[in-house]
Amino acid sequence: MDFPEAFVWWKDRFPGRTFPFECPDCQTVIELRQRVSQRTRACPGCGFKVTIAAIDDQLTQSEPDRLAIIQAAEDERNHWFNVLMNVMKVFAVILGPLASLIGISGGSTGRSRRH
Ligand SMILES: [Zn+2]
Repeated sequence: MDFPEAFVWWKDRFPGRTFPFECPDCQTVIELRQRVSQRTRACPGCGFKVTIAAIDDQLTQSEPDRLAIIQAAEDERNHWFNVLMNVMKVFAVILGPLASLIGISGGSTGRSRRH
């Protein structure tokens, strides 16, 4: 999986645009701005070293949630697209006969009937 992409994706979902890393030892939530950092970050609760491997572990664990959210958004989009298509179909059914009734289309068939 693409860890940098997943990290940024989670960050974007939070108002402060930080990744809430939960310390695996003491469950303290540490707000991370970057996945890769120059200095070694440590948990303020227990001193656990927040390494990239530890962050990636958490990203791996939360990946099913991320994919489910992405899938749900996709389904939502498809749902509204289908609703729109059905509305268009209904309009076509109503407007088709109406148009020929007024004489916008099918004018030639209307004239041929008069002969
Ligand atoms: Zn900790």
